Amino acid sequence: MENNLEEAIDLIVNSKYTIAFTGAGISVESGIPPFRGETGLWSKYDPNVLDLNNFHVNPIESWKVIKEIFYDFFGEAKPNPAHFALADMEKLGMLKAIITQNIDNLHYEAGSKEVYEFHGNSRMLVCPYCANKIKASDADLTDIPLCDKCHAVLKPDFIFFGEGIPEMAYKNSFEAADKADLFIVIGSTGEVYPAANIPQLAKQNGAKIIEINTESTLFTESITDIFLKGKASDTLNKLLIGIKQKI
Ligand code: NAD
Repeated sequence: MENNLEEAIDLIVNSKYTIAFTGAGISVESGIPPFRGETGLWSKYDPNVLDLNNFHVNPIESWKVIKEIFYDFFGEAKPNPAHFALADMEKLGMLKAIITQNIDNLHYEAGSKEVYEFHGNSRMLVCPYCANKIKASDADLTDIPLCDKCHAVLKPDFIFFGEGIPEMAYKNSFEAADKADLFIVIGSTGEVYPAANIPQLAKQNGAKIIEINTESTLFTESITDIFLKGKASDTLNKLLIGIKQKI
């Protein structure tokens, strides 16, 4: 990785419009497992819990599991050095925005400002009928949360299977893929669509792709120019140190 690392640092320092694209892997070191894989959440829970139709038909059952995964468990997670390194890169003017597939709010908690949450955010609850939103921390999740305006069952403000991508995040992400000359893809399998289209489109538009992952992915052989094999925190910290030495 060492030679590649130098090449990656040069690329970042010399690029004009760098975008980070993050998946579940960046939050693994915060204690949040990915969905897929042997130790992934779907090896323990039924993914049906995030099926929109199932949620409407069985809200009580669904909320029991959603509370356990996304609030009791995710709720305790704190940003790790990888999230902080990206926030520092933005402050240094080396990163224009982060497109994240994650719903854990950890990029904002680390201090990043320009974050496009492609799949929404778990920290808010939304009414599917009147679009009223409240903070999840203000809701009593020991019971199913109800909208105080129209009394419908609230759902987390992240997308379930069968739901569309939030409009602004979609627009901002694809605009970023048009403008970018460099994408840093971190901890994403490339299996989740339409998110996986974003780095692919950037590549078609001429952007270089740096990829950070502990394993190779669908991106690695198809679009990646520089693959940095390793954990997100360690690798992003090395990149940050290198960037600071060169600017
Ligand atoms: P994913 O596409 O997000 O892939 C996870 C990737 O992370 C894998 O390629 C894995 O090799 C890599 N990885 C694991 N540990 C790593 C580390 N320490 N450093 C760098 N890379 C590491 O797959 P998924 O989990 O199936 O996700 C499906 C969708 O659900 C995605 O949109 C994902 O973002 C979302 N999700 C979000 C969260 C969260 O908000 N934290 C958690 C799980 C899933």
